Formats: sequence, C-alpha cells, structure tokens
Amino acid sequence: MKRFQIATIMTAWVSALFFSFVIPVRAAETPPGESASAQENLPVYTVRFSGPGLIVYADPALPQAPTAVLPDQTQVQIIEGPMDTLARIRVCGTEVEGYVDMRFLKRADAIVEDYDLYTYEEMEEDIRQLQARYPGLLRSEVTGTSADGRNLYMLTMGAENALHHILVHAGIHAREYINPLLVMEQLEQCLDYYDRGQFLGMRYRDLFADTAVHIVPMVNPDGIAISQFGEAALRSPELVQMVRACYAYDVAAGRTKYPYEVYLTRWKANARGVDLNKNFPFGFAVNVRATQPSYAGYCGLLPFSEPEAASLGAVTLRYQPSVIINYHSMGEVAYWDTSESRYTEINRGFSAYMLSLVPYRRMGSSGATGSYLDWIYSGDTPVRSITFETGNVECPLPIGQYPKIWVQHGSVLQSAAWYAYTGL
Ligand SMILES: [Zn+2]
Repeated sequence: MKRFQIATIMTAWVSALFFSFVIPVRAAETPPGESASAQENLPVYTVRFSGPGLIVYADPALPQAPTAVLPDQTQVQIIEGPMDTLARIRVCGTEVEGYVDMRFLKRADAIVEDYDLYTYEEMEEDIRQLQARYPGLLRSEVTGTSADGRNLYMLTMGAENALHHILVHAGIHAREYINPLLVMEQLEQCLDYYDRGQFLGMRYRDLFADTAVHIVPMVNPDGIAISQFGEAALRSPELVQMVRACYAYDVAAGRTKYPYEVYLTRWKANARGVDLNKNFPFGFAVNVRATQPSYAGYCGLLPFSEPEAASLGAVTLRYQPSVIINYHSMGEVAYWDTSESRYTEINRGFSAYMLSLVPYRRMGSSGATGSYLDWIYSGDTPVRSITFETGNVECPLPIGQYPKIWVQHGSVLQSAAWYAYTGL
C-alpha cells in the first residue's frame, strides 16, 4: 500500500462535495457465510461526518476513480490498516472493498460517544471502560484532587520508560469542554488501532513503545461542571458562595453583562475563580485582567496555588515531554511561540509540520502572562509545542462543531508521537 498524504485525501474529501450522486451499494450476491466467517472477529465501524458521503477508492494513488460513495451510517469492517489515515475496508454484507479515510469511521461499539456535554462523570466511566477493553495498553493515574473533590486524571498509553514522551492536555479553560471529548476519542482510536495501524511506516505498537503518550484529558473538571450545569454542579457550599462572589465582582467591574445562568456557561476559571492558564510562574501576574476571583482572567495569589495547575506542572516535570499539544477553543488558530521563548527555533519546524496537518491560522508571539506555554518555553527541557484553538463559534462550542474538529485533529496524536520519535 502506498503512503497516502493526509492533505491529498482531504482534497479528495472536499472534492466529494461536487458529487451529486451516491453510488448505491448492492447487497452481497455470494451465499451467506462464504466470506463472512473470516470477518466475524473484526469490529464493525460506522461511516460518519462524511457530508455528501465517504468515497471508496480502488487504488488510493488514483483518487479520481472512486469505487463507491458511502452515506453516513453505512457499516464497514477494516480489513487492512489503517496506514496513515487510509484504511482498506469492506462494506458489511457486500463485496464492496476499497480504501477510505479512516477519520470518517467510528467503531459501532465505541466507548467514547459524542455527547453534547462531555462530562467529568462520562470521562471517568470511559477511562474505566477503555482500560477494560485494552488491558495493559492504558494506565490511569490520579495526580491530584480539585477543590470540589474531583480527580485530576493523567492517562498514559505506551511504555512508562519510553525514550520519548509527549503530553496532550485539554479542558484547562472550563467552557472549552469539547476538547476533552476530542482527546479521549483520539486516545480510543490509537488504542483500537494499536496492533493494526501504521503511521509513516511505523507500527503503532512500535511507535508507542518508544514514545509514551501522556494525556491530561480534563485539566479543570470543576470549572467544566460549572460551565455545563451551573452552580448546582458544585458539591461544596463554600465554592457556590465563591462563584456567586465572582459574579458580583464581574458585574460591578463591568466584566459581564449576562444574567447569572448565561454567565456561568461562559466560565473559564476553576471553582475558586482562578484562570488556570495564568497560574504558572513565568510572567505570573503580568497584565492581569481581573484583580480578584472571576469567571476568567484572575491569576491567583501565587503561581501553582491551584491543584489543577500544580498537577499539570508536576506531570510536565516528571516526564519532560519533548512535544506538548495544548487544546483550547476557539478561532481555528494556532499559537506556537512566545516572545520570551527559549525554543523558538525548534518550534518553527514543528509548528510548520502540525499546521500542514491542521490548517489553522498561525498566530504571532506575545509576552508572558503566566500561561502554561510561557512556563514550558522558559524551562530547561527543549520542548516543541502548539496550542490549537478549535471551533469557530463562541464557547461553549455546540456539538455541531465537532465533526469538523474531529476530521481536523483525527491524526494529531499519531503525528505528534511520530515527531517526538524522530527527534526532529
Ligand atoms: Zn482556552
């Protein structure tokens, strides 16, 4: 099978918009059981997010000659691959075979489901189920506890003593809770393809043996509970009072004009009113926008005062990842540099590589304000990093934004691991 570039298949997908018909998939004419037995053990996948339909190619080197176009909900089995983003499939109950972009397939019995509100409880349950389905491939660790008593999870896929480490985190800002769903689904996909998939010529199993992937899927679970369910989500009466005090301050300071319930949906901070992405030491308390606890922009009294930031910092120091992916929303832009970064040069190549996969607009650098990125770029460990701002409408992003986000980011984990592995 030829290596197939992601950009090429994206172009093919876009070109499918111009197909005005769907090639019908005929039912199998062979007697039942003849070729079905060999596929019985293969999981079934469902086509999704394909818009006008998912194109099946007989030969991926000739993308102008589609074999079929599969509407969403078509069920298929992967009979080879995926290699990069390309999987050889057979349509269930038919003889139709060919190559498709694996990002438009989701296991029919997937554990991580696309919920409008991907909650802390859902994530906890998904972690438990993923560990049960993929024994030995996924480790889960509680690295701290939030003020409202929620676990701060760190998941590791790959060898603890791997040569290379990458770190992916999401949900540091509460209202950006679509990204925990994204990283959990990225994780499930890599686990699913662990023994079958290849990326740029490397088997997933070999790639992750040398490059451990650490995921902090929900940095700020208390804040996410507030954004999703309001103050009723909080267990601690003291924290409810704290949130109400934040609202009083933000109203008095002219920082919000929303009624309380809407204000809470736009919450970014943790339950103590600290913006976790301002709670890191480098540039701490510079350009503060809020001088006391608030839904957004307050840095806290001291760097690492918040368990969520301290926990993410400790994970970073423990593994010294050479590649770090930060997920935020919104804007479809990417931050890659800061004006005081020690690692601008190594990040030029890395950011160009990531932006060749995820076509977001590159943003310029600015001065340090105590963010996580400011902090890792000031450290002694050379690190490549990019911050993706997913979605193009106001947060919290509705689930209708998710299909595009998934297709954009459906191979970011593999790409980041491969980059760390090659040590470029
Ligand atoms: Zn953010």
